[in-house]
Amino acid sequence: MSTIHLNDPVAVLHGVGKEKELELQQIGINTVQQLIEHFPYRYENHEIVPIHELEHEQKATITGTVQGEPLLRYFGRKKSRLTVRLVCDGILVTATFFNRAFLKNKIKQGEAVTLTGKWDKHRLTMTVQGFQEGEPDPSKSLAPVYSIGGNLSMFQLKKFIQTALKEYSSGITEVLPEEYLKKYKLPGKQSAYWSIHQPGSHEELKHARRRIVYEELLLFQLGMQALKRSKRMAAQGNKLSYDKPELKKFIQTIPFSLTGAQKRSVNEIVTDMLQPGRMNRLLQGDVGSGKTVVALIVMYAQYLGGNQSALMVPTEILAEQHFQSLQPFFENTGVKIGLLTGSVKGKKRQAVYEAIQTGGVDIVVGTHALIQEGVEFQRLGLVITDEQHRFGVNQRRTLQSKGEKPDVLFMTATPIPRTMAISVFGDMDVSVIDEMPAGRKPIQTFSAKHTMLERVLGFMKKELDQGRQGYVICPLIEESEMLDVQNAIDVHAQLSAYYTNYEVGLMHGRLSADEKEAVMASFAEGRVSVLVSTTVVEVGVNVPNASVMVIYDADRFGLAQLHQLRGRVGRGEDQSYCILLADPKSETGKERMRIMEDTNDGFVVSEKDLELRGPGDFLGSKQSGLPYFKLADVVLDYRALETARQDAQELINSSSFWEENEYSPLRDYLHRHGALRGEKLD
Ligand code: ADP
Ligand code: MG
Repeated sequence: MSTIHLNDPVAVLHGVGKEKELELQQIGINTVQQLIEHFPYRYENHEIVPIHELEHEQKATITGTVQGEPLLRYFGRKKSRLTVRLVCDGILVTATFFNRAFLKNKIKQGEAVTLTGKWDKHRLTMTVQGFQEGEPDPSKSLAPVYSIGGNLSMFQLKKFIQTALKEYSSGITEVLPEEYLKKYKLPGKQSAYWSIHQPGSHEELKHARRRIVYEELLLFQLGMQALKRSKRMAAQGNKLSYDKPELKKFIQTIPFSLTGAQKRSVNEIVTDMLQPGRMNRLLQGDVGSGKTVVALIVMYAQYLGGNQSALMVPTEILAEQHFQSLQPFFENTGVKIGLLTGSVKGKKRQAVYEAIQTGGVDIVVGTHALIQEGVEFQRLGLVITDEQHRFGVNQRRTLQSKGEKPDVLFMTATPIPRTMAISVFGDMDVSVIDEMPAGRKPIQTFSAKHTMLERVLGFMKKELDQGRQGYVICPLIEESEMLDVQNAIDVHAQLSAYYTNYEVGLMHGRLSADEKEAVMASFAEGRVSVLVSTTVVEVGVNVPNASVMVIYDADRFGLAQLHQLRGRVGRGEDQSYCILLADPKSETGKERMRIMEDTNDGFVVSEKDLELRGPGDFLGSKQSGLPYFKLADVVLDYRALETARQDAQELINSSSFWEENEYSPLRDYLHRHGALRGEKLD
């Protein structure tokens, strides 16, 4: 019947008055559909287990026949205890209810009851939480648990959901094509919605969940892919053409041979750039895997094609360093490199602007200063952002709007687990550098208690005595950068007193750009042996002679971040070490330190980090762009995510998807979500 509209306000439901409507709204439920899609976040197992199989203190459901009269005792004004004896599986058991005196009249001699609670194996007693008259109903053995809020009780919410299902489930229409339901043996949508709220068995629940998760992920992937497609069609980007042998020659001037993964990435990027559409690609590779080299090769291709490139990085230190490290590669070429950061001021700045505008520079390295008003490129062909998740979406958009639809490459050293990459960057193509340059010695990582500081410093001294250098990273204080800085200053004073024969430098975010540059330079040149720093050295900094890093309060850092930090060492020929000072209290905390000790593989680290902390924290910001799913979990459901991605790709690329009736619910979804106009996501 067409009178059923899932978009109706919840107030239309029987039993939902003004007050309850408000309470539902407070937890984000306005419409019947939202109510029906408020899925349980877990289930309590009320399956009956024979008494003799129960563990001590286990939460369980039992059933039995009431013996004698229940005994009610009051103590205090409102407190009561109701005691009932019953025979379960031939054993006499005592059940105790606290503060539920009203149940006394419902529990009758000789009748069956079903109880859920905590089992005391020694006393044969149960402290009851859930009560049901009669024998257990096997279809209710899995009790859904919902998130609730405000004054709304679980009981009420369950009732409302039941009502909504009864009155409205015929309005739930199928969106998945028949062939997919068959292929994956998925239940229909209506039946899945009933089962998810009221599973008759584990099996039924499993399939209902599978179906809803698959639908969510398929729709999400369809949205992403449709967007990617329409962007590609709309993007009359520029079609690069350049002298290929010249690029080959240039690659041969690089003083080492590229790893297989680097070659593959260069190929993927260059292939994109040769197409008329606009490149939108993510280049992922662990710290030290050689992304910068890939970047400079593709920038050189742009140069050969007569275009400029911009390389945007999150900090001035890094811009400075990239600027320096790119120079030697381009020594015998015509490439001119410019630097633009906040601290390039006055006349110098004007000169850089002008060079960018007139084509006086071919490659510009800079911070977000690159995207400020006043920067006009002559012919911008490629924009590369390093550590892109540190830039806001708006900044990225501004830069992309400069120049004539430049190709865009995002580089990140944060090894994003594949599952996350698919979901967060689902509208991008991805290249992965999953191979380290040959000859690198894996960093050895140890964790130690703070009480072992003396020994750790002694260990570092031995490295210094051999001419090596070291980093000391100071605790991260979440509330304030000021406190971070204070910490660094304190540690610097302490270590200066300890390492009397060595120069100890200090680096933190409050230093001016000139000061930072001076400190970095003296560390890079070896005049400073130990660099005490806040996390500002995290990204990109490259001093190959540094062979040891000590991280204070390592348990305050995310694993991905520790891995980033640790990547500052192990860049040269020498064996490098990373020492994590930490006194983790929790098991998870200990586990995290063990992971760091056990693996050097950034992908493994980040997968584990994701498992331990959940995706919310992963990119370290709320704006991480992770999609919100009602039921699907990008970590746990990664297989379904991958299946959905492939299916979505197939659908989008097939002509029948755009024409045939059976796909119209999916197409409608895309239309409703603007995915066909490319207006939703950046
Ligand atoms: P990333 O940016 O991925 O952290 P870089 O591009 O800075 O890594 O490379 C780290 C170091 O390794 C640099 O000193 C670089 O010159 C060197 N390097 C890069 N690729 C190779 C390679 N294929 N063989 C040997 N050394 C390499
Ligand atoms: Mg880099």
